[in-house]
Amino acid sequence: MRLYPTTDLLLHLFRREAGFFKNRLLEYLYPTRCLICERLGALLCEKCRVALPSIDQDRACRLCGAPLGHVVCTECTTVYERTRFPFTAACCALEFDASSRRLILGYKDGGERRAAPLLAGLIVEALPRKWLHSIDLITWIPADDSALKRRGFDHMELIACSVAGRIGRPSRALLIKHDADDQRLLGRANRRRNMQGMFSYRERNRSYAAADPSGVGSKIKQTRILLLDDVFTTGATLTAATEKLLGEGASEVRVATVCRVW
Ligand SMILES: [Zn+2]
Ligand SMILES: [Zn+2]
Repeated sequence: MRLYPTTDLLLHLFRREAGFFKNRLLEYLYPTRCLICERLGALLCEKCRVALPSIDQDRACRLCGAPLGHVVCTECTTVYERTRFPFTAACCALEFDASSRRLILGYKDGGERRAAPLLAGLIVEALPRKWLHSIDLITWIPADDSALKRRGFDHMELIACSVAGRIGRPSRALLIKHDADDQRLLGRANRRRNMQGMFSYRERNRSYAAADPSGVGSKIKQTRILLLDDVFTTGATLTAATEKLLGEGASEVRVATVCRVW
């Protein structure tokens, strides 16, 4: 059946405006609220943004990103300096407290995907400028299958894509995380045990396959990697992922997270 020009025009206008009206309807039904204080208007209101527990990067531990570490924190003394963590350095944007916890949980468990650029922005603001010359590739701690099924998205992937766009480096899914016990319920020793063997290397992935059909590009030999995660707690997860990346030939891994438990 042939559509009359007027109908074509109406359909065209409808399609063009559908997204706009859908967003307006969603906003009407579920108005945007601050993830921390629930004030109407923005995902992070100005009052909460100013009060964020930002870590002073000039005073943070250069090895583990802990706040007030004064160059190297008490947990990264010279005895452990080269043995405690396999990554070169860590940078964490916020201290983990009630407000930053609400921010993270509202994003990943509340399904508020629009917060990804906001959280990526916090990471990029915290990154030491000199790091920008020491990063070839960005990757992230991926969600395991059960988390992916529960949340419907890989929350760190969205953040990594946004960080990649902001600092002009590519991001790639390099790791596969296997289901493990919830790290939050375990002590430090058990976390390390739990994470052993939790990662495998993604030999070929969609992004690389698209960029390089031969698959050669999936190798990370001599690549300097920025590894992203949401919360740095004991560092067990980041340690296991870093060891996997170094084992695959990466020359260096730096870590950046939104929050640091301290
Ligand atoms: Zn607020
Ligand atoms: Zn430290």
